[in-house]
Amino acid sequence: MISDDSLRHRMDLFRQRCLELGLAYTHQRMVIYKALASTNTHPTPEAVYEQVKREIPAISLGTVYKNIRTFTESGLLREVTVLHDSLRLDANLGDHHHLVCVRCKAIFDAPESEATPVRVPESLPDGFRLERCSVLFLGVCAQCAAAQQ
Ligand SMILES: [Zn+2]
Ligand SMILES: [Zn+2]
Repeated sequence: MISDDSLRHRMDLFRQRCLELGLAYTHQRMVIYKALASTNTHPTPEAVYEQVKREIPAISLGTVYKNIRTFTESGLLREVTVLHDSLRLDANLGDHHHLVCVRCKAIFDAPESEATPVRVPESLPDGFRLERCSVLFLGVCAQCAAAQQ
């Protein structure tokens, strides 16, 4: 769970971006985005669906997927996919890196300012347009480490 302040900030940003983008700010979208914005666990779309169903029992997984795609295409959500078979989502739009547990695939946020600065490669593949940089730090989370002992 994230703090009430952060959640309010994320939801304010969401409403503002919807207005700017001409995206209808519907109750359904608000509930879906809130499920995403209220967590830092980088959920799968299925986990978001389970959460949203508690408030909108009639909603389908397809509808949740469709909205998630709209959010990612609108820059309201980011994908954290690299090491995962399933899409992993992030409503933290600030610059940050990720710590990934190689056992259970849990994802944690790490502020960019606390990470070693990353140098942009001088030779990028032809035509590759760099948009942002995200570093994955791999390791074992506390829970998995405890389970191992
Ligand atoms: Zn773990
Ligand atoms: Zn993140």
